[in-house]
Amino acid sequence: MSVVVIGSANLDLVYEVERIPAPGETVLSRGLASFPGGKGNNQAIAAARAGAETRFIAALGRDAAADELAAQARAAGITLLDRRVDAPTGTAVIFVDRKGENSIVVNSGANAALVDLTEAELAEIAAADVMVVQLETPLDTVTAAIRAARAADTVVVLNAAPSGAFPEALLAEVDILIVNEHEAAELAGEPAGTGERSLMSVLTAHGCDVVITLGADGAFVGGRGADPVKVAAFPVEVKDTTGAGDVFVGAFAASLDRTADERSLVAATEFATAASAIAVQRKGAGPSIPTLDEVRSLLD
Ligand code: ATP
Repeated sequence: MSVVVIGSANLDLVYEVERIPAPGETVLSRGLASFPGGKGNNQAIAAARAGAETRFIAALGRDAAADELAAQARAAGITLLDRRVDAPTGTAVIFVDRKGENSIVVNSGANAALVDLTEAELAEIAAADVMVVQLETPLDTVTAAIRAARAADTVVVLNAAPSGAFPEALLAEVDILIVNEHEAAELAGEPAGTGERSLMSVLTAHGCDVVITLGADGAFVGGRGADPVKVAAFPVEVKDTTGAGDVFVGAFAASLDRTADERSLVAATEFATAASAIAVQRKGAGPSIPTLDEVRSLLD
């Protein structure tokens, strides 16, 4: 399966501190580690580790953070199709204290410059089996990418995260929508806490297949004319759920097959459920993303 991901790339800078500094306070860090981050980047890594031939279209700055992200992408086996722009590469500065509490500042930087898809980028979308987009890059770009994929018969997977405004009419051009419960409620225009069955019927009425992820409760899959199905999560000991949703989306896209039947949708959800169950048992977002062999052995 070939997957093209279009989206955000950030370098996550994680500072280990005794306590998170109060306003005006300076604290010394006990250590600094950097990891790939950003929904697009995480999902591309998850797709590549799950065995898909993966290309990642992203905007990076002309700086050391960009070089580090490019090296990390290469190490993950991704073909990075990056544009270098006159803005700093997206970064997230993360303070983690002794208790594991964190506080985060994100600078989207170059991600905002992923606009006006080029002919070469549009050709990559047309050539892929599956395209994955999220909402951390400009909406006009997401819209143009969806339309280009649609015209070329590339399967469109939209992860409508983080929640925010997304034009309802565009859902009809999406093949598979993946959202968590909060995003599902926001997109459906329903109050938080609305049950997944009601959310599913509102969202599938737009004509797309829908996967609602439910954290420790697994995922709810609907569309393709069949009754919605619940896929249970694996009962695992959780260490860190950061990025579970991104692992789910990337693994899902990698394992999708092009037959538009209900069974193939459920099979991809089962694979993604296994991949994210492995990820939540490990610390960190990027480093916790499992390989194809690891997912297969959990499913066996
Ligand atoms: P995040 O924002 O933390 O990345 P999310 O809110 O986008 O996550 P979730 O629904 O929390 O997405 O999780 C995605 C998938 O990860 C779930 O459908 C499930 O398969 C798996 N998962 C999450 N939490 C757990 C858990 N505690 N135990 C097992 N699997 C889990």
